[in-house]
Amino acid sequence: MTKIAFIGLGRMGHGMAGRYLEAGFTVAIWNRSKSKAEDLIARGARWAQSPADAADGADAVVTMVADDEASRAVWLGKDGAAPRMKAGGLAIECSTVSYRHALEMARELRGRGLVYIDCPVTGLPEAAAAGKLTLLVGAEQADLDRAKPYLAPIGSVIRHFGAVGTGTVYKLINNLMGAVQVASLAEGIAMAEQAGLDMKLVAEAMGSGAVASPQVIRHSKRMVARDFSGASFTASLRHKDAVYAVALAEGLLADAPLLGRAAVEAYVRAKAYAPDDDEGKMIEIVSRAK
Ligand code: NAP
Repeated sequence: MTKIAFIGLGRMGHGMAGRYLEAGFTVAIWNRSKSKAEDLIARGARWAQSPADAADGADAVVTMVADDEASRAVWLGKDGAAPRMKAGGLAIECSTVSYRHALEMARELRGRGLVYIDCPVTGLPEAAAAGKLTLLVGAEQADLDRAKPYLAPIGSVIRHFGAVGTGTVYKLINNLMGAVQVASLAEGIAMAEQAGLDMKLVAEAMGSGAVASPQVIRHSKRMVARDFSGASFTASLRHKDAVYAVALAEGLLADAPLLGRAAVEAYVRAKAYAPDDDEGKMIEIVSRAK
C-alpha cells in the first residue's frame, strides 16, 4: 500500500487526511495538537510523534499548516519531515505560503535530494472532507505526473500554472481579490443598512446582479443575517494571505497595489476583532447598526 504522511490537521487538513484513509493509503499523521487526530487514529491512521516520524518510510509527505512559519517548522524545524524523507521523495505543500517561502522551500528541499511542489488549494473545509478541492499547482510536468496519484484523493480539479511557486502566485492573487471583495461587500452592506434599505432585497439583488461573484453570493446572505456558522475561512488566515499577496504585488507592479493595501487594513481590523471566526464577521465592526 502507498504510504503517505499528512501533517497539519486543522479545518482543512483534517478532512484531507481522512480522504487518504478512504482511498486506501497507509497514512501517518502529525499535528501540533494531538486532540485533532483522535478520530483519524480510530479510523486507522498511525499517530506520529513528530513530522520526522510521520515522514519515516513515506512515499510522499503532504503539509497543510497555517503559514510560512508553520511550514518551515514542519519541514525543516526540530524533528522536521525533510531530513527523514526517502531520497527522491515527494514533498507536497498544500498550505498557503508566501511566494518567497515556496521558492526557498523548493531550493532547500531540492538541495536535500527531494522534490517539492507547491499545491495550495481553493475550497472550504467541507470540500476538503469530500475530496473536491481545486489544486493550484506549481511544478515541473514530470514532478506533477509523479504527484498525481497523491493528489487524486483530495482534489477534483488540478490547475497547473507552471514551475514551482506559480501555484502559490495564483493562489495569492485569488485570495487578494477575494479579500477586496469581502471587505468591500461589508462596506456595501453596512451602507445599505445605515440608509434603511430593505436588507432582504439587498441580499437578493447582490446575489443576482453584476457583482454576484460566488463570494458575494455566499457572504452577502450571511452578513445580512449575521450568521457566521459552519465551515469557514478565518479573518486571521485571510489577513495572512493578503499580506503575502501585497508583498508579491509590490515586486510585480509598477504602481503599488492600493486596493490590496486597503484590504490588508480592513483585515487588520477584522483580525483584531475576531481572529478565529469567519471573515464575514467583519460586518459587525463596519456596520454601526447592529
Ligand atoms: P486552521 O484550522 O487554523 O489550521 C492550521 C493548522 O496549522 C493546524 O494544524 C495548526 O496546528 C497548524 N499550525 C499553526 N501554526 C503552527 C506551527 N507553528 N507549527 C506547526 N503547526 C502549526 O487552518 P485551515 O483553515 O485548516 O487552513 C490551513 C491552510 O489552508 C492555511 O494555509 C490556509 O490559508 C489554507 N486554506 C484554508 C481554507 C479554508 O477555507 N479554511 C481554504 C483554502 C486554503 P494546531 O491544530 O496545533 O493549531
